[in-house]
Amino acid sequence: MNVFVIAEHFQGQLTDSTFELLGKARELAADGSVTALLAGHGLGDMTAQLGAASKVLIADHPQLEHFNPQAYCKALGQMLNGRLPGLVLVPYSSMGMDLASGLGVDLDVPVITYAIDVKEEGGALLVTSQLYGGKMNVQSKVESPSCIAAVLAGAFPADAGKVDGSPEVEEVSVQGLEDGLAVQFKQLIEPEGGDVDITQADVIVSVGRGIQNEDNLPVVQALADKLGGALASSRPIVDNKWLPKTRQVGKSGLKVKPKLYIAVGISGAPEHIEGMKDSECIIAINTDPKAPIFDYAHYGVVADLFDVVPALTEKL
Ligand code: FAD
Repeated sequence: MNVFVIAEHFQGQLTDSTFELLGKARELAADGSVTALLAGHGLGDMTAQLGAASKVLIADHPQLEHFNPQAYCKALGQMLNGRLPGLVLVPYSSMGMDLASGLGVDLDVPVITYAIDVKEEGGALLVTSQLYGGKMNVQSKVESPSCIAAVLAGAFPADAGKVDGSPEVEEVSVQGLEDGLAVQFKQLIEPEGGDVDITQADVIVSVGRGIQNEDNLPVVQALADKLGGALASSRPIVDNKWLPKTRQVGKSGLKVKPKLYIAVGISGAPEHIEGMKDSECIIAINTDPKAPIFDYAHYGVVADLFDVVPALTEKL
């Protein structure tokens, strides 16, 4: 099978997801080829980090300097045109969400999102997706010659894809990227410099919708204070404006890697897991024994947070 990996980069760095997909692509390709697709502008020496691919296709164009989903879809569509059939692996990131669906339409290729596993069995390609915030896994059998699988961050180890080398490089001259763009890049808005930088904290107490309302936040703040840690949260807490955006962990928030991450009343949706899965030690407190957060936690407490958290704070 020929496998294509969309190499994602942000601010001059290839993302971890790119290496996760490259490692998996090598395993899946067997006798086929692994081709990395690198679109952007002034890409420097990124190809040297893409040694897990046998070939790198590059589209370098001023219109690709900043991420613009339409321009990127046009470029990647042209790079893939005439090279399929095959499996296209896309990181299911904020950028990849746009690319997977856009390319699916442009190339008339089926797209499977929220993928956490891809394998070949008896000649059939099987893709497992994690649905309903991680509560249900669904396996799809691909019946078309090509498929785009949009894969969640952390589904595969990155190390297997981190291979330095000098893959064959082919420049693709992409055309018409400016034509008819409904989306224009205006400005990159960095997260506000915050009150507390949760990415630097060794200990994070992170609170989710289980806290019920804003008035209960002191319960978790007291635990964070006792541990000398920072208070963070899942997205609904920030959407409700109970905490500032700088405290949000996850796909559309910040990625954290503390020594200790205590998830309090957080279900463990894939978008949240993406931001904290690399924490050294994860403790989850949740009333639902089937909450997906327990699949990632090193230690778990199935109990009411209003019983456990004050007792733990008191004990400490
Ligand atoms: P819920 O899923 O509602 O979970 C609440 C949990 O609390 C439940 O498991 C429940 O059992 C437990 N609970 C209830 N009462 C108690 C109690 N008394 N004691 C103990 N446990 C209790 N989410 C993020 O977090 N970060 C992101 O960056 C992010 N980005 C997203 C980007 C996109 C494009 C999309 C589509 C979604 C994104 N989300 C993000 C949202 C994500 O899908 C989930 O909706 C969200 O993470 C759920 O938050 P939660 O776990 O706090 O709430």
